[in-house]
Amino acid sequence: MSRGVGDAPTELAGKIVTPGDGRYQRVRSTYTTVGRPAVVVLPESARDIAAALRFARDRGFPVAVRSGGHGLAGTGTNDDGLVIDLRALNRVDVLDRRTRLVRVEAGARWAQVAQALAPHGLAISSGDHGNVGVGGIATGGGVGWLVRKYGLTIDHIRAVEVVLADGTIVRADAHNEPDLLWVMRGAGAGAGVAVAFEIEAMDLRDVGHAQLVTAVDPTGETLRRWADVMARAPRELSTEVRLASQNDGSTVAVITAVVASDSPSVIRKALEPLLKVGDVMGQQAHLVSYTDLVSPLHLHENTGQMPARTTNGLLTEMSAGAASALVKASAARDPILVQMRSLGGATHVPDSAATAFAHRHQNVLVIGAGFPPDARGTLRTGWAPLAPFMDGAYVNFESAPDETAFAHFYPGPTGARVADLWKRYDPEGVLRPWSRA
Ligand SMILES: Cc1cc2nc3c(=O)[nH]c(=O)nc-3n(C[C@H](O)[C@H](O)[C@H](O)COP(=O)(O)OP(=O)(O)OC[C@H]3O[C@@H](n4cnc5c(N)ncnc54)[C@H](O)[C@@H]3O)c2cc1C
Repeated sequence: MSRGVGDAPTELAGKIVTPGDGRYQRVRSTYTTVGRPAVVVLPESARDIAAALRFARDRGFPVAVRSGGHGLAGTGTNDDGLVIDLRALNRVDVLDRRTRLVRVEAGARWAQVAQALAPHGLAISSGDHGNVGVGGIATGGGVGWLVRKYGLTIDHIRAVEVVLADGTIVRADAHNEPDLLWVMRGAGAGAGVAVAFEIEAMDLRDVGHAQLVTAVDPTGETLRRWADVMARAPRELSTEVRLASQNDGSTVAVITAVVASDSPSVIRKALEPLLKVGDVMGQQAHLVSYTDLVSPLHLHENTGQMPARTTNGLLTEMSAGAASALVKASAARDPILVQMRSLGGATHVPDSAATAFAHRHQNVLVIGAGFPPDARGTLRTGWAPLAPFMDGAYVNFESAPDETAFAHFYPGPTGARVADLWKRYDPEGVLRPWSRA
C-alpha cells in the first residue's frame, strides 16, 4: 500500500483536493478541529463515495466522513488520512406532498433544508443551528427546537441510502435491510456512509418564540421549578436554558422557548407558566418562521474556529442535588457553560428498542462545555460533580467519545446490538469514528 494520491480513480477526477490545491484551506477543517488530511474527496454520488472508500483502502488511508463539519469530536477531519466531504450532496426534494415524504441528502445544512421545505409549508425538527449538517444529526439523534412536539429527527426517518465500508450501495427501509435502518437511526456513524434520508416532514410554518431571563437561586430551586413546569407543559412547548454566571457571583438563566403553534392564544397559554419559574428580569415573545430559527444566517465555513470541549448527560429527575450541582458548575471560578434542553413529550413515545437512540424516559439533556485556554481541564473539573446524576448520554454532544462514553450512549441491549451491527456492516472498522475493541 502506498500513501500517494496519483492514479486516483477516474470517476473522482476534479473531486479530489490535496494540500497544494487552492481549495484545501476551505475543506481541511471542521468547526472544532483544524485538520491536515492528505486528501479530501468531494463526491457527487453514492458511486463516488464507493470509489473514495476503495481509493482509501488501496492507499491505506484512514477515513473520516463529514457532512456539515459540526461534529464536536472533530471526527469529520483527520491528519494524513482521507476525508469524504459530502457538501456537494445537498439536494432536498419533496417526494410526496400529501404524505409529507421528503428526500434530503446528507451534505445539506439544516438551514438549507428549512429553506427548501418552507415554500411547501413543511419543516423537519432538526437542531438549533442552521450550519449543522444533515448527516451528523440524522445518524445520531436530532434534539431540535420542536423536540417535545415532534420527537427526534431520527424518529421521522423512513429510509436511508447508505454506502457500506466495502463500497456496496444499499437502501435500508422497513422491508429491506431493517437492521441497517435501525442502526442508522442513532448509531449510523459506525455502520455506513449515509448518502440521503427519506424523512416524513411536518406541516409547519410559523412558531412562537420567546426569550426570558431570570435570576437563579444558588440552591437551584429555579431549575427545579423549570423542570416542574416542563413536566406539565403541553408538547407544543420545548425550552432550552443556558446558565450564565454574573460578575457579582450570581447566576441567571436565559430561557429560550419555542411553541409549535401559530395560534397566539396557544402560545400565550404555553408560555405563561414559565413566568413563574423565577424572578423574571426580561422577556419577549414573537411569531417567527421556522427558517428564522434554523437560519441561513448561521451558514459559515468551518476553520477550526471553536476549540471548545463538550460533554453531556441525560437527567431523568431534576433532584435538589442535581439542581444545585448545575448552578455550582456554572458559577465556579473556572466555570463551564451549562445548557439544558427539555425532553419528554414525543421523545418518550417510541419504545427504547425502536431505534439505536434508547433514551426514551429522560427529561433533560444537559450539555457542558469548557473553553480555552484549558478547555479539557476545565470541562473535566466542572463536569465531575454532575456526572453522578446522569442517566445515559447523547452521542452528538461529546468531544471525547470512547469505550466508556459508548456505554452511556448505547446502554445495555442497545449497545450489544449496535456493536454487533457495526461489526456486520463494517467488519474492519473502516468508518468507526472512534476506536473501540
Ligand atoms: C453549534 C452547534 C449546535 C448544535 N446544535 C445541536 C442541536 O440543536 N441538536 C442536536 O441534536 N445536535 C446539535 N449539535 C450537535 C450535532 O448533532 C453534532 O455535532 C453532529 O454530529 C453534527 O453533524 P455534522 O454533519 O455537521 O457533523 P460532521 O462533523 O460532518 O460529522 C460528525 C460525525 O458524524 C458522522 N457522520 C456525519 N455525516 C455522516 C454520514 N453522512 N453518514 C454516516 N456518518 C456521518 C461521522 O462519524 C462524522 O465524523 C450542535 C453542534 C454544534 C457545533
